[in-house]
Amino acid sequence: MQLIHIDTASPKPPRTAVLIIYTGGTFGMVSEPQADGGESLVPFEFGHILEKIPELAHLECMLTVVSIEPLIDSANASPAHWAQIAQLIELHYADYDGFVVLHGTDTMAYSASALSFMLEGLRKPVVFTGAQLPIGTVRNDARRNFLTAIEVASAKRPDGSALVPEVCIFFDRYLLRGNRAQKVEADHFNAFESRNYPPLAFAGIKIEYQEAYVHQELSSKSLSVQLTMSENIALLKLFPGFSPTILEATLAIPGLQALVLETYGAGNVPTNPALIAALAQGLDKGVVVVNISQCVGGAVKQGLYQTSQHLVELGVWSGYDLTPEAALTKLMYLLAKDYSPSDRKVLFATSLRGELTNE
Ligand code: ASP
Repeated sequence: MQLIHIDTASPKPPRTAVLIIYTGGTFGMVSEPQADGGESLVPFEFGHILEKIPELAHLECMLTVVSIEPLIDSANASPAHWAQIAQLIELHYADYDGFVVLHGTDTMAYSASALSFMLEGLRKPVVFTGAQLPIGTVRNDARRNFLTAIEVASAKRPDGSALVPEVCIFFDRYLLRGNRAQKVEADHFNAFESRNYPPLAFAGIKIEYQEAYVHQELSSKSLSVQLTMSENIALLKLFPGFSPTILEATLAIPGLQALVLETYGAGNVPTNPALIAALAQGLDKGVVVVNISQCVGGAVKQGLYQTSQHLVELGVWSGYDLTPEAALTKLMYLLAKDYSPSDRKVLFATSLRGELTNE
Protein backbone atom coordinates (compact mmCIF):
# COMPACT_ATOMS: atom_id res chain seq x y z
CA MET A 1 0.00 0.00 0.00
CA GLN A 2 1.26 3.39 -0.97
CA LEU A 3 2.17 5.92 1.75
CA ILE A 4 1.54 9.57 0.82
CA HIS A 5 3.46 12.18 2.79
CA ILE A 6 1.73 15.54 3.27
CA ASP A 7 3.86 18.68 3.35
CA THR A 8 3.22 20.37 6.67
CA ALA A 9 4.97 23.20 8.58
CA SER A 10 8.71 23.00 9.06
CA PRO A 11 9.57 20.88 12.07
CA LYS A 12 10.23 22.08 15.58
CA PRO A 13 11.76 19.00 17.15
CA PRO A 14 10.62 16.81 18.74
CA ARG A 15 8.13 16.53 15.94
CA THR A 16 5.24 14.13 16.24
CA ALA A 17 4.18 11.84 13.43
CA VAL A 18 0.61 10.80 12.71
CA LEU A 19 -0.48 8.10 10.28
CA ILE A 20 -3.88 8.65 8.66
CA ILE A 21 -5.63 5.49 7.58
CA TYR A 22 -8.30 6.38 5.02
CA THR A 23 -11.03 3.77 4.65
CA GLY A 24 -13.77 5.69 2.79
CA GLY A 25 -17.21 6.95 3.85
CA THR A 26 -18.87 10.32 3.37
CA PHE A 27 -15.76 12.21 4.55
CA GLY A 28 -13.83 11.89 1.32
CA MET A 29 -16.54 12.55 -1.22
CA VAL A 30 -16.33 15.32 -3.80
CA SER A 31 -18.83 16.37 -6.37
CA GLU A 32 -17.76 15.63 -9.93
CA PRO A 33 -19.45 16.38 -13.24
CA GLN A 34 -20.95 13.31 -14.88
CA ALA A 35 -21.44 12.41 -18.54
CA ASP A 36 -25.17 13.21 -18.32
CA GLY A 37 -24.35 16.81 -17.38
CA GLY A 38 -25.24 16.33 -13.70
CA GLU A 39 -22.94 16.07 -10.66
CA SER A 40 -22.50 13.18 -8.27
CA LEU A 41 -20.42 12.40 -5.17
CA VAL A 42 -17.36 10.22 -5.76
CA PRO A 43 -14.41 9.33 -3.46
CA PHE A 44 -11.63 11.89 -3.84
CA GLU A 45 -7.93 11.38 -4.44
CA PHE A 46 -6.32 11.74 -1.00
CA GLY A 47 -3.10 13.08 -2.47
CA HIS A 48 -5.05 16.31 -3.12
CA ILE A 49 -6.04 16.79 0.52
CA LEU A 50 -4.06 20.03 0.86
CA GLU A 51 -6.29 21.64 -1.78
CA LYS A 52 -9.30 20.79 0.35
CA ILE A 53 -7.79 21.53 3.78
CA PRO A 54 -4.93 24.02 3.31
CA GLU A 55 -4.77 24.43 7.13
CA LEU A 56 -3.04 21.03 7.26
CA ALA A 57 0.10 22.71 5.95
CA HIS A 58 0.34 24.70 9.19
CA LEU A 59 0.35 21.69 11.49
CA GLU A 60 3.67 21.02 13.15
CA CYS A 61 3.37 17.29 12.92
CA MET A 62 4.37 14.93 10.16
CA LEU A 63 1.38 13.50 8.33
CA THR A 64 1.32 10.40 6.21
CA VAL A 65 -1.73 8.86 4.57
CA VAL A 66 -2.38 5.28 3.65
CA SER A 67 -5.64 4.15 2.07
CA ILE A 68 -7.23 0.74 2.25
CA GLU A 69 -8.08 -0.71 -1.12
CA PRO A 70 -10.79 -0.52 -2.25
CA LEU A 71 -12.27 2.36 -0.24
CA ILE A 72 -15.61 1.40 1.28
CA ASP A 73 -18.89 2.81 2.43
CA SER A 74 -18.74 1.64 6.04
CA ALA A 75 -22.03 -0.24 5.56
CA ASN A 76 -19.75 -2.75 3.79
CA ALA A 77 -17.26 -3.00 6.68
CA SER A 78 -16.48 -6.51 7.89
CA PRO A 79 -14.02 -8.14 10.30
CA ALA A 80 -11.64 -8.42 7.32
CA HIS A 81 -11.53 -4.61 7.16
CA TRP A 82 -10.89 -4.39 10.91
CA ALA A 83 -7.99 -6.80 10.42
CA GLN A 84 -6.64 -4.61 7.59
CA ILE A 85 -6.72 -1.50 9.82
CA ALA A 86 -5.17 -3.42 12.74
CA GLN A 87 -2.40 -4.74 10.49
CA LEU A 88 -1.57 -1.24 9.24
CA ILE A 89 -1.32 0.03 12.82
CA GLU A 90 0.89 -2.91 13.80
CA LEU A 91 3.14 -2.46 10.76
CA HIS A 92 3.67 1.27 11.39
CA TYR A 93 3.37 1.28 15.19
CA ALA A 94 6.99 2.07 15.92
CA ASP A 95 7.19 4.94 13.41
CA TYR A 96 4.18 7.01 14.46
CA ASP A 97 3.01 8.70 17.66
CA GLY A 98 -0.66 8.31 16.84
CA PHE A 99 -3.16 7.13 14.24
CA VAL A 100 -6.27 8.72 12.73
CA VAL A 101 -8.73 6.38 11.05
CA LEU A 102 -11.03 8.12 8.56
CA HIS A 103 -14.11 5.94 8.48
CA GLY A 104 -17.78 6.13 7.47
CA THR A 105 -20.04 6.95 10.37
CA ASP A 106 -22.54 4.12 9.87
CA THR A 107 -20.43 1.39 11.43
CA MET A 108 -17.71 3.49 13.05
CA ALA A 109 -18.77 2.46 16.57
CA TYR A 110 -18.47 -1.24 15.62
CA SER A 111 -15.04 -0.78 14.07
CA ALA A 112 -13.74 1.33 16.97
CA SER A 113 -15.02 -1.24 19.49
CA ALA A 114 -13.51 -4.11 17.54
CA LEU A 115 -10.13 -2.38 17.21
CA SER A 116 -10.11 -1.60 20.94
CA PHE A 117 -10.08 -5.35 21.61
CA MET A 118 -7.90 -6.43 18.69
CA LEU A 119 -5.07 -4.01 19.56
CA GLU A 120 -3.78 -5.64 22.76
CA GLY A 121 -1.26 -3.63 24.76
CA LEU A 122 -2.03 -0.39 22.83
CA ARG A 123 -0.22 2.66 24.22
CA LYS A 124 -0.80 5.14 21.39
CA PRO A 125 -3.92 7.02 20.27
CA VAL A 126 -6.08 5.54 17.53
CA VAL A 127 -8.66 8.22 16.75
CA PHE A 128 -11.58 7.37 14.48
CA THR A 129 -13.36 10.22 12.76
CA GLY A 130 -15.46 10.92 9.69
CA ALA A 131 -18.13 13.36 8.63
CA GLN A 132 -21.81 13.89 8.03
CA LEU A 133 -21.04 16.24 5.11
CA PRO A 134 -18.18 15.50 2.71
CA ILE A 135 -14.97 17.45 2.44
CA GLY A 136 -16.00 18.45 -1.10
CA THR A 137 -19.00 20.50 0.07
CA VAL A 138 -18.64 24.16 1.00
CA ARG A 139 -20.23 23.81 4.44
CA ASN A 140 -19.03 20.61 6.10
CA ASP A 141 -18.00 19.02 9.39
CA ALA A 142 -15.23 17.00 7.74
CA ARG A 143 -12.52 19.67 8.03
CA ARG A 144 -12.96 20.36 11.73
CA ASN A 145 -13.39 16.70 12.71
CA PHE A 146 -10.23 15.78 10.82
CA LEU A 147 -8.05 18.60 12.17
CA THR A 148 -9.15 17.94 15.76
CA ALA A 149 -8.62 14.19 15.42
CA ILE A 150 -5.04 14.86 14.26
CA GLU A 151 -4.49 17.15 17.25
CA VAL A 152 -5.77 14.45 19.63
CA ALA A 153 -3.64 11.75 17.97
CA SER A 154 -0.51 13.87 18.44
CA ALA A 155 -1.25 15.18 21.97
CA LYS A 156 1.39 14.30 24.55
CA ARG A 157 1.92 14.61 28.28
CA PRO A 158 4.95 16.54 29.53
CA ASP A 159 6.85 13.23 29.88
CA GLY A 160 6.34 12.53 26.16
CA SER A 161 3.77 9.75 26.59
CA ALA A 162 0.47 9.89 24.67
CA LEU A 163 -2.34 11.82 26.32
CA VAL A 164 -5.06 9.49 25.03
CA PRO A 165 -3.46 6.08 24.48
CA GLU A 166 -6.65 4.28 23.49
CA VAL A 167 -9.07 3.72 20.60
CA CYS A 168 -11.50 6.63 20.54
CA ILE A 169 -13.94 8.49 18.29
CA PHE A 170 -13.72 12.22 17.78
CA PHE A 171 -16.89 13.70 16.33
CA ASP A 172 -18.45 17.16 16.37
CA ARG A 173 -17.31 18.38 19.82
CA TYR A 174 -16.62 15.22 21.76
CA LEU A 175 -13.83 12.74 22.11
CA LEU A 176 -15.47 9.46 23.16
CA ARG A 177 -14.07 6.08 24.10
CA GLY A 178 -14.54 3.97 20.97
CA ASN A 179 -16.10 0.99 22.72
CA ARG A 180 -18.57 3.22 24.58
CA ALA A 181 -19.81 5.22 21.59
CA GLN A 182 -22.91 4.72 19.44
CA LYS A 183 -24.14 6.46 16.31
CA VAL A 184 -27.34 8.19 17.40
CA GLU A 185 -27.97 10.76 14.69
CA ALA A 186 -28.39 10.36 10.92
CA ASP A 187 -28.96 14.02 10.07
CA HIS A 188 -27.15 16.31 12.47
CA PHE A 189 -23.47 16.88 13.14
CA ASN A 190 -23.58 15.45 16.70
CA ALA A 191 -23.71 11.90 15.38
CA PHE A 192 -22.18 10.01 18.33
CA GLU A 193 -22.97 9.65 22.00
CA SER A 194 -21.63 7.71 24.93
CA ARG A 195 -24.37 7.59 27.55
CA ASN A 196 -22.64 5.28 29.99
CA TYR A 197 -19.20 6.91 30.08
CA PRO A 198 -18.10 10.57 30.12
CA PRO A 199 -16.32 12.14 27.13
CA LEU A 200 -12.53 11.93 27.22
CA ALA A 201 -12.36 15.51 25.95
CA PHE A 202 -14.49 18.45 24.81
CA ALA A 203 -13.33 20.43 21.81
CA GLY A 204 -14.27 24.08 22.10
CA ILE A 205 -11.85 26.96 21.77
CA LYS A 206 -9.39 24.63 23.49
CA ILE A 207 -9.45 20.86 23.67
CA GLU A 208 -10.24 20.16 27.32
CA TYR A 209 -9.09 16.67 28.20
CA GLN A 210 -10.66 14.77 31.11
CA GLU A 211 -7.53 12.85 31.90
CA ALA A 212 -9.04 10.99 34.85
CA TYR A 213 -11.34 9.15 32.41
CA VAL A 214 -8.67 8.09 29.93
CA HIS A 215 -7.87 4.36 29.84
CA GLN A 216 -4.30 3.39 30.64
CA GLU A 217 -2.85 0.05 29.64
CA LEU A 218 -1.64 -1.48 32.92
CA SER A 219 -0.07 -4.71 31.68
CA SER A 220 3.58 -4.71 30.65
CA LYS A 221 2.57 -6.27 27.33
CA SER A 222 3.76 -4.57 24.17
CA LEU A 223 1.44 -4.22 21.15
CA SER A 224 0.15 -7.50 19.86
CA VAL A 225 -2.66 -7.70 17.36
CA GLN A 226 -5.40 -10.31 17.23
CA LEU A 227 -6.55 -10.45 13.64
CA THR A 228 -9.22 -13.13 13.86
CA MET A 229 -12.72 -12.51 15.14
CA SER A 230 -15.50 -15.09 15.40
CA GLU A 231 -18.32 -14.42 12.98
CA ASN A 232 -20.56 -17.17 14.39
CA ILE A 233 -22.63 -14.69 16.27
CA ALA A 234 -26.13 -13.21 16.04
CA LEU A 235 -28.02 -10.26 17.47
CA LEU A 236 -31.77 -10.11 18.05
CA LYS A 237 -33.95 -7.33 19.39
CA LEU A 238 -37.09 -8.17 21.39
CA PHE A 239 -40.38 -6.42 20.75
CA PRO A 240 -43.91 -6.96 22.06
CA GLY A 241 -45.22 -9.89 20.00
CA PHE A 242 -41.71 -11.32 19.33
CA SER A 243 -42.28 -14.92 18.28
CA PRO A 244 -40.23 -17.60 20.13
CA THR A 245 -39.79 -19.30 16.75
CA ILE A 246 -37.39 -16.46 15.77
CA LEU A 247 -35.26 -17.37 18.77
CA GLU A 248 -35.53 -21.12 18.07
CA ALA A 249 -34.51 -20.67 14.44
CA THR A 250 -31.58 -18.41 15.32
CA LEU A 251 -30.25 -20.65 18.09
CA ALA A 252 -30.50 -23.64 15.72
CA ILE A 253 -28.05 -22.08 13.21
CA PRO A 254 -25.25 -24.64 12.80
CA GLY A 255 -22.00 -23.47 14.41
CA LEU A 256 -23.57 -20.49 16.19
CA GLN A 257 -21.39 -19.60 19.17
CA ALA A 258 -23.19 -16.63 20.69
CA LEU A 259 -26.38 -14.61 20.61
CA VAL A 260 -26.69 -11.03 21.83
CA LEU A 261 -30.28 -10.44 22.90
CA GLU A 262 -31.45 -6.83 23.12
CA THR A 263 -33.95 -6.85 25.97
CA TYR A 264 -36.10 -4.25 27.70
CA GLY A 265 -34.98 -1.75 30.36
CA ALA A 266 -32.78 -3.32 33.02
CA GLY A 267 -32.60 -6.59 31.04
CA ASN A 268 -36.19 -7.82 31.11
CA VAL A 269 -37.61 -10.53 28.86
CA PRO A 270 -41.14 -11.97 28.53
CA THR A 271 -41.76 -14.97 30.80
CA ASN A 272 -43.52 -16.79 27.95
CA PRO A 273 -42.71 -20.54 28.45
CA ALA A 274 -42.05 -21.10 24.73
CA LEU A 275 -39.46 -18.34 24.73
CA ILE A 276 -37.81 -19.71 27.88
CA ALA A 277 -37.77 -23.21 26.35
CA ALA A 278 -36.11 -21.88 23.18
CA LEU A 279 -33.46 -20.09 25.23
CA ALA A 280 -32.83 -23.18 27.39
CA GLN A 281 -32.38 -25.33 24.29
CA GLY A 282 -29.77 -22.98 22.84
CA LEU A 283 -27.91 -22.65 26.13
CA ASP A 284 -27.88 -26.45 26.54
CA LYS A 285 -26.21 -26.72 23.13
CA GLY A 286 -23.46 -24.44 24.44
CA VAL A 287 -24.48 -21.19 22.71
CA VAL A 288 -23.54 -18.17 24.83
CA VAL A 289 -26.51 -15.82 25.29
CA VAL A 290 -25.77 -12.25 26.39
CA ASN A 291 -28.40 -9.89 27.75
CA ILE A 292 -28.02 -6.28 26.52
CA SER A 293 -30.50 -3.50 27.15
CA GLN A 294 -32.31 -1.70 24.34
CA CYS A 295 -31.88 1.47 26.41
CA VAL A 296 -28.90 3.61 25.43
CA GLY A 297 -28.19 4.53 29.05
CA GLY A 298 -27.98 2.42 32.20
CA ALA A 299 -27.15 -1.23 32.80
CA VAL A 300 -28.66 -4.70 32.77
CA LYS A 301 -29.43 -5.93 36.28
CA GLN A 302 -30.54 -9.53 35.93
CA GLY A 303 -32.81 -10.62 38.77
CA LEU A 304 -34.00 -7.12 39.66
CA TYR A 305 -37.42 -7.89 38.18
CA GLN A 306 -39.18 -11.22 38.02
CA THR A 307 -38.96 -10.83 34.22
CA SER A 308 -35.21 -11.36 34.33
CA GLN A 309 -34.91 -13.81 37.26
CA HIS A 310 -35.38 -16.79 34.90
CA LEU A 311 -32.42 -15.61 32.80
CA VAL A 312 -30.10 -15.92 35.80
CA GLU A 313 -31.35 -19.46 36.41
CA LEU A 314 -30.90 -20.38 32.74
CA GLY A 315 -27.30 -19.12 32.64
CA VAL A 316 -27.72 -16.08 30.38
CA TRP A 317 -24.75 -13.71 30.78
CA SER A 318 -25.40 -10.14 31.84
CA GLY A 319 -24.14 -7.55 29.37
CA TYR A 320 -23.94 -4.90 32.16
CA ASP A 321 -23.71 -1.42 30.62
CA LEU A 322 -22.02 -2.53 27.37
CA THR A 323 -23.28 -1.03 24.12
CA PRO A 324 -24.55 -3.68 21.66
CA GLU A 325 -21.55 -2.79 19.45
CA ALA A 326 -19.12 -3.45 22.29
CA ALA A 327 -20.92 -6.63 23.40
CA LEU A 328 -20.83 -8.06 19.87
CA THR A 329 -17.22 -7.22 19.15
CA LYS A 330 -16.01 -8.31 22.60
CA LEU A 331 -17.69 -11.70 22.06
CA MET A 332 -16.25 -11.96 18.53
CA TYR A 333 -12.80 -11.32 20.06
CA LEU A 334 -13.15 -13.66 23.05
CA LEU A 335 -14.71 -16.47 21.01
CA ALA A 336 -11.82 -16.40 18.55
CA LYS A 337 -9.37 -17.04 21.40
CA ASP A 338 -8.59 -20.40 22.82
CA TYR A 339 -10.18 -19.83 26.25
CA SER A 340 -12.13 -22.32 28.33
CA PRO A 341 -15.87 -21.45 28.59
CA SER A 342 -15.44 -20.44 32.24
CA ASP A 343 -12.45 -18.15 31.55
CA ARG A 344 -14.37 -16.59 28.69
CA LYS A 345 -17.30 -15.89 31.00
CA VAL A 346 -15.04 -14.20 33.57
CA LEU A 347 -13.29 -12.12 30.91
CA PHE A 348 -16.61 -11.07 29.38
CA ALA A 349 -17.69 -9.69 32.77
CA THR A 350 -14.33 -7.93 33.28
CA SER A 351 -13.48 -4.54 31.81
CA LEU A 352 -10.63 -5.22 29.36
CA ARG A 353 -10.41 -1.78 27.67
CA GLY A 354 -12.76 0.32 29.77
CA GLU A 355 -15.78 -0.96 27.85
CA LEU A 356 -17.93 -1.74 30.89
CA THR A 357 -18.46 -0.47 34.40
CA ASN A 358 -17.73 -3.10 37.02
CA GLU A 359 -19.82 -2.26 40.05
N1 ASP B 1 -22.73 5.55 4.47
C1 ASP B 1 -21.62 6.33 4.93
C2 ASP B 1 -20.63 5.40 5.62
O1 ASP B 1 -20.84 5.01 6.73
C3 ASP B 1 -22.08 7.38 5.87
C4 ASP B 1 -20.99 8.24 6.46
O2 ASP B 1 -19.83 8.12 6.18
O3 ASP B 1 -21.35 9.07 7.29
O4 ASP B 1 -19.65 5.04 4.99
